[in-house]
Amino acid sequence: MFHIAIDGPAGAGKSSIAKEAARRLGFVYVDTGALYRTVALNALNQGVDLENSDAVIASLDGTDIRLAFEDGTQKVLLNGQDVSDSIRTEQVSAGASKVSAIPAVREFLFGLQKNIAASCDCLMDGRDIGTVVLPDADLKIFLTASPEERARRRYEQNRERGMEADYDAILAEVNQRDYQDTHREIAPLRQAGDAVLLDSTHMSFQEVVDRLLQLVEEKR
Ligand code: C5P
Repeated sequence: MFHIAIDGPAGAGKSSIAKEAARRLGFVYVDTGALYRTVALNALNQGVDLENSDAVIASLDGTDIRLAFEDGTQKVLLNGQDVSDSIRTEQVSAGASKVSAIPAVREFLFGLQKNIAASCDCLMDGRDIGTVVLPDADLKIFLTASPEERARRRYEQNRERGMEADYDAILAEVNQRDYQDTHREIAPLRQAGDAVLLDSTHMSFQEVVDRLLQLVEEKR
């Protein structure tokens, strides 16, 4: 079994880099952010105020969240229903950041992530994979880029998708999420002591993927 942990702030390119590297390696790509997003979506669907931790925890009662993998693509199932697309809204992004600060939510998702890793060679991305979920991962990467560059990438992405894009609003959202993710008490976003830092601010997509694959080769 070979496990790669990739952590880093929102918008650093973790998912696209991890997806491509997993494809080239024949590994399973596990996007753990989707799990926190699904907890937020589930609570929002139930009309729960996400600031109310007890209500968010209660919303998990009887809730079944799982990941399914088809042809290397991850799907997230909420009570059997595929919610892979509906968890991608800005409202759910902000909500995921809030619910992820609740210890009981992290515990609820911890076992699920451990079980997936136990069953396959995988590349798992998130905020606390190298520090908490897979502390013994074979390779740990901390992938980052400046907030301005991450906001610029999201801005371009939104425009390509024909969505309205306001750079200043996106930058404010990036900074807000960074702050929440790095300042929470439980499992805050931080680089593991043994993680390799990859700053992609001035690197192309292909350069980052190649560097990652090179690091895997060095470890294998
Ligand atoms: O990676 P993504 O943007 O989908 O993650 C959504 C939110 O879920 C993050 O802002 C973060 O607060 C939370 N998260 C987390 N731990 C992880 C993955 C995501 O706290 N391992």
